[in-house]
Amino acid sequence: TRQFFVGGNFKMNGSEKAITTIVDNLNKADLPKNVEVVLCPPYPYLAQVVAQNKQSTVKVGAQNCYCKASGAYTGEVSPDFLKDLGVDFVILGHSERRTIFHESDELVADKVKFALEKGLKVMLCIGETIDEKKAGKTLSVCQRELKAVVQKVKDWSNIVVAYEPIWAIGTGLTAKAEDAEEIHADIRKYLSTVIGKQAESVRILYGGSANGSNAPTFKGKTNVDGFLVGGASLKPEFADIIKSRQ
Ligand code: 13P
Repeated sequence: TRQFFVGGNFKMNGSEKAITTIVDNLNKADLPKNVEVVLCPPYPYLAQVVAQNKQSTVKVGAQNCYCKASGAYTGEVSPDFLKDLGVDFVILGHSERRTIFHESDELVADKVKFALEKGLKVMLCIGETIDEKKAGKTLSVCQRELKAVVQKVKDWSNIVVAYEPIWAIGTGLTAKAEDAEEIHADIRKYLSTVIGKQAESVRILYGGSANGSNAPTFKGKTNVDGFLVGGASLKPEFADIIKSRQ
């Protein structure tokens, strides 16, 4: 069985004060012991969240990192720095990185490989645009994004996949639980053809306008192993999402 997983991607939001409040609320919450939670604040607040967090089931993740250990890469962040701060996870391949910052499938794959080698766990984001969805290309886009990583990474035990349809991100348009279940099952089937039996244990999260009220609608969906939450991770309802499988 796959442990339920909820990631909070704060994106470029927050302040020292706001993030203190978010972690403080989570520290006080009665969180289920069987749900893995990962908070991903902006880089400057990572150390603060690591220090402030009191929940044993809550870990900290970065929203990106580079595929080199050190050197002349102005503005970039090494996985070693993240490990040094007590960060366990990193989000890689988020659609905002792929589109706004032109990260290619190959760059994302290089980053995944390197982050894993450095001992970070990876939340690997995949998903299609609205035009690709309309053209019936959802699965082929996901396969292309996964394949780039499969070609470089054999051991998927420290990868969590986040299926985040781009048309659902920040739009309030959530994928229907039935539709998410179907694509998640297809993604798992594809993974089993390329990484074999390990595909059974890879968590596949849904991301895209997940919130406290729609999270419970995914409850019976066996291939939806959790959520990667953007906007709602900044709000008190994030705790409701964490509790949505109970
Ligand atoms: P929203 O939950 O704000 O739609 O964002 C989803 C997301 O991109 C998480 O990585």
